[in-house]
Amino acid sequence: MNLIDVMEAFPDQESCIERLERIRWRGTPVCPFCECKDVKRKREATVGRVGRWSCSDCKASFKVTHGTVFHGTKIPLQKWFLAIALILNAKKSMSSYQLQRDLDLNQKTAWYILARIRAEMVSKTSPIVLQGIIEADETYMGGRPRKANKKEDREPSKRGRGTDKTAVIGAVERGGKVVAEVAKGLTGRHIFEFIRRVVNVRESELMTDEYHAYNALSSQMKHEIVNHQEQYVDGDKHTNTIEGFWSLLKRAWYGQHHHYSVGYTPLYVAERCYVYNHRHLEDGKMFWKFLREVF
Ligand SMILES: [Zn+2]
Repeated sequence: MNLIDVMEAFPDQESCIERLERIRWRGTPVCPFCECKDVKRKREATVGRVGRWSCSDCKASFKVTHGTVFHGTKIPLQKWFLAIALILNAKKSMSSYQLQRDLDLNQKTAWYILARIRAEMVSKTSPIVLQGIIEADETYMGGRPRKANKKEDREPSKRGRGTDKTAVIGAVERGGKVVAEVAKGLTGRHIFEFIRRVVNVRESELMTDEYHAYNALSSQMKHEIVNHQEQYVDGDKHTNTIEGFWSLLKRAWYGQHHHYSVGYTPLYVAERCYVYNHRHLEDGKMFWKFLREVF
């Protein structure tokens, strides 16, 4: 869905409500409080009341957006839908400044919409278990972009450099999905716990670089250590997939989010994983999937 598609499908608040009602209730509206089906549409006195229903049983008043990411919003749904399309389509992610300009929002609203949509991506992603050839790696985000010296990056000194950086750990199934998240640390214990949680270790083979924190995993699963000193990729022995994901993640971060605090990193990482994991969906399908999953 590009912006024109969204505007044609959803010219006004009514069309947005109508579509959400169809997705949620399939023609039979239900009271979200008592689950009674004896509900009536309220007369639409003002714009803010479009799509309001009342329950004959518990007398509650509600909208189709009840309990969803759109609950209680005063922002027109069309703007939400446009924001969703923009975020899902953005190859390099969106900044709230860009969203503010594109959708004529104020800065606070743009930031709020972005944060809510990203949080929605996190909450609607069921736990993923990777299986097959798994590449695992770790990185740091935040701070200023610079040529990373990986060893220093992994063990930032307590003082000075490194303190404004966020540790991110990730694993990707070749040809499949990625799981990446902000880590409390990158010690052997942190990495061990992460891999055990997101990878089916019995059915998988792990590829990592020579960082010693991965050593403990060698007793748990097939583990290939890739030597980055070597010039050539040795057949299947490489970590190019996860490194490619890191570069996507960082390019977008440093392009768009340089003014954000590190506290924002978890949601941003989740958004990039979500988009990566849906990359095989045809154009537009991701948008409809997102809308279906708000309920
Ligand atoms: Zn009710």
